[in-house]
Amino acid sequence: MALAEFDLIKQFFTRAAQRETTALSVGDDCALLNIPEGYELAITTDTMVEGVHFFADVEPEQLGYKLLAVNLSDLASMGAEPIAISLALTMPSVDSNWLQGFAKGLFSLADKYRVDLIGGDTTSGALTLSIQAMGLVPKGQALKRSAAKVGDLIYMTGYLGDAGLGLKIKQGYQGKGIENALKRFNMPEPRIENGLELRPIANGCIDISDGLAADLGHILEESAVGASLDYACLPLSESVIDYIKKTGDWQMPLLAGDDYELCFTVSPSRARKLSDGYRCVGVIEQKMGLRLVREGISTVFQVNGFEHFR
Ligand code: ADP
Ligand code: MG
Repeated sequence: MALAEFDLIKQFFTRAAQRETTALSVGDDCALLNIPEGYELAITTDTMVEGVHFFADVEPEQLGYKLLAVNLSDLASMGAEPIAISLALTMPSVDSNWLQGFAKGLFSLADKYRVDLIGGDTTSGALTLSIQAMGLVPKGQALKRSAAKVGDLIYMTGYLGDAGLGLKIKQGYQGKGIENALKRFNMPEPRIENGLELRPIANGCIDISDGLAADLGHILEESAVGASLDYACLPLSESVIDYIKKTGDWQMPLLAGDDYELCFTVSPSRARKLSDGYRCVGVIEQKMGLRLVREGISTVFQVNGFEHFR
């Protein structure tokens, strides 16, 4: 017999709270959070729809993980420390095996960052998964898209294009580094620690969900500045370099989404405060628009990120 809604919530989504900020968790009409003095609550929601954000054949464990990862990535890019999430689940039917896998993936990441699941909603319908994530940031210190300044250096975490390569592999591409690319596509790492480290150092910041060019474009627009990117400085893995050699598709690392690395700007005088492991990929300029320097030539780089209703 299929589990009833309340049994399902009890069995898979009710756990002891890990944080003092959680005053009341799953079970009442609302959850309650304690917001410590001097902090702001950062809130974000991301939804994943079958056929739009994920393939029907994806492992439920990877789905639970990725749903949380993309939400925590938004908190990371604001420099917020994650504390709690709520989960809205819409499913065609109750499948205990699926729920078990989904919960396992979700809680593996939630436990890593001590994030409490404090509530949610469970309904029937086409598979649609939504998380609202909440985090703390000291008042006035959140990293905003609008804070980039002319002269700032543009940096990023990690590598670019590996998740994009993972998607190409799902679509039939065969080449080097398949396992890593698929892992980057299915199980991105939210850059929480980086966001916290960057909070007192960076100016503008965004997480790369729709591709570096499109997401940096949001910083440029919100900050009313332009930028120049140096293609030779982009952090590309061997497998992405191999992909470009084979296909000639050199724009992929700039256009592909799903990397969930952070892209941020830092004034040159503060750049030395950065720890190792960040890559400088360009500079913020007064002249509007995005320019790309490649093989010694600077050209305007026009981007259209993915938009749902286009
Ligand atoms: P209500 O009818 O008052 O909205 P629900 O029946 O939707 O309450 O949910 C009962 C309790 O279970 C609430 O505390 C709600 O936050 C929680 N809840 C429902 N679905 C989920 C879920 N998928 N994950 C975690 N908590 C959930
Ligand atoms: Mg409800």
